[in-house]
Amino acid sequence: MNEPRSFRVQAVVLRHANWGEADRLLTLYTREQGKLRAIVKGARKIRSRKAGHVEPFTHITAQLAKGREIPIMTQVETIDPYLPLREDLQRTGYAAYMLELLDRFTYDQEGSNPAIFRLLTDSLERLCQLGEPWACVRYYEMRLLDYLGFRPRLFECANCGREIQAEDQFFSPSAGGVICPRCGLGLPGLWPIAIETLKYLRHFQRSDYPSAAKASPAPDIQKNVETLMQAHFTYLLERSLNTPGFLKQIKRM
Ligand SMILES: [Zn+2]
Repeated sequence: MNEPRSFRVQAVVLRHANWGEADRLLTLYTREQGKLRAIVKGARKIRSRKAGHVEPFTHITAQLAKGREIPIMTQVETIDPYLPLREDLQRTGYAAYMLELLDRFTYDQEGSNPAIFRLLTDSLERLCQLGEPWACVRYYEMRLLDYLGFRPRLFECANCGREIQAEDQFFSPSAGGVICPRCGLGLPGLWPIAIETLKYLRHFQRSDYPSAAKASPAPDIQKNVETLMQAHFTYLLERSLNTPGFLKQIKRM
């Protein structure tokens, strides 16, 4: 049987770029096929009926026709435009960060990962509703690591395997988790991690969202959790992400 020429996807628009004279090239994260690119013909023309549906962050359903290389989007409808994310600069920044993380960790035509798609749409929705987005973003980071196969080891030493005791520890991005004080002495490239900070990382790793969202640690602990997660992502991605710098700028404004 021939492969179908046309297929339907549910997707979030990760980013778009100009393509040719009047078209747009979209990077989508789809429920059915993971990340893929698609062309929207004439999307930059003033009268385009598709243009409003293909802005970054939008949750859409679309019909794609197989082109010679990149599929062409023939129909599109918006499921959720996540309007609050466009109206508030801080939320825009967090949403851009979540999308960038996913974009950087995935490749075109890698295949579907419906758990990631669900996490993405749930998190964008939560970001629209929340007052304080801290827990929502941390939960997203921790779950994303799980679903990508990079779950950090937080309950036993990533070096000797012994159970972590209730005392200050080290964190090693390259070992993928916590290093006990005994193994950590003298090892290079380790981050100190206070037991209080570790407590919250563990909480995000083992809790479902409703209980994770109840966490509201002191500002310095929030900052430590954030810094450690950044160190971990930076190591995994081998270069620093763009959006955390952007978020810092917004906070200063
Ligand atoms: Zn150890």
